[in-house]
Amino acid sequence: MKKMLLTFWVLGLAVVLAAGQKPGPKVFISVDMEGIWGVVHANQTSPDSPEYGAARKWMAEDVNAVIDGLLAAGAGLIVVNDSHGGMRNIIADQLNPKAALISGSPKPLSMMEGIDASFDACLFIGYHAQAGTAAASLDHTISGGTMRSIRINGLELPELGINAAIAGSYNVPVIMLSGDEATCGQAKAVLGQSLLTVAVKKAVGRYAAQMKPREEARQSLTQGAQQALASLGKVKPFRLDPPLSFELEFHNSGQAEMPSLLPQVKRTGPRSVAFTADDYLQGFKLLRAVIALAGL
Ligand SMILES: [Zn+2]
Repeated sequence: MKKMLLTFWVLGLAVVLAAGQKPGPKVFISVDMEGIWGVVHANQTSPDSPEYGAARKWMAEDVNAVIDGLLAAGAGLIVVNDSHGGMRNIIADQLNPKAALISGSPKPLSMMEGIDASFDACLFIGYHAQAGTAAASLDHTISGGTMRSIRINGLELPELGINAAIAGSYNVPVIMLSGDEATCGQAKAVLGQSLLTVAVKKAVGRYAAQMKPREEARQSLTQGAQQALASLGKVKPFRLDPPLSFELEFHNSGQAEMPSLLPQVKRTGPRSVAFTADDYLQGFKLLRAVIALAGL
């Protein structure tokens, strides 16, 4: 009898331990810089400017506030992909040591590198509005110097939509976005009104914004992330299904010349090109190559 009790006790302990070891949801975070608290000008987002040091610290602080919320909601592995410019903005030892950092570029999936079907949720932090949005901090679409607009299946999309469709092609939902107020509104318009958004600032113009008080901004990021992960399943993955048509408009006609040399790419106007794809990830990779050629 004593032996049986002991066996039950050991079995019970094993079950409890196994339950405790069950990993929580796996979370992917793509973090850009223009929508970070405190950032209003390109000098703050460019490594050659003396203002850059402060902004890269704010970037880590915004992400860490989000990570605190995710951990409070029971997140398992959290992967943070540095998604701005040269993608070496977050100083590795400034990130919460419980999260994994993807740093550097180029990366095949760029702002979405590292995501795959094993993730349960995706968050966009420090994101900005589509090119041509007012008032919005540093609005642009992928490349401010070349892109006027990107349409996929007839729908003009900001980066948040283009990237959400990468997550969607792996069936991963975007559960939260942070940035300025205009970006939050755009995210709800594209990804659905039930998306949880956290505005850390309100743009006055392209190069000026009123920040939320710093403490309030960080608390909103933490609470938002905790709530978003706790209500996982509320937001559906954003999918763009094939056949896919990509239509790109550049700022000037010269930028359409090099992309038009690719056999898959058609010149559709003095400063526009188009191509089609049967697979979203393939289409996205061609989009990136076309934008790179346009910038030559
Ligand atoms: Zn950026």
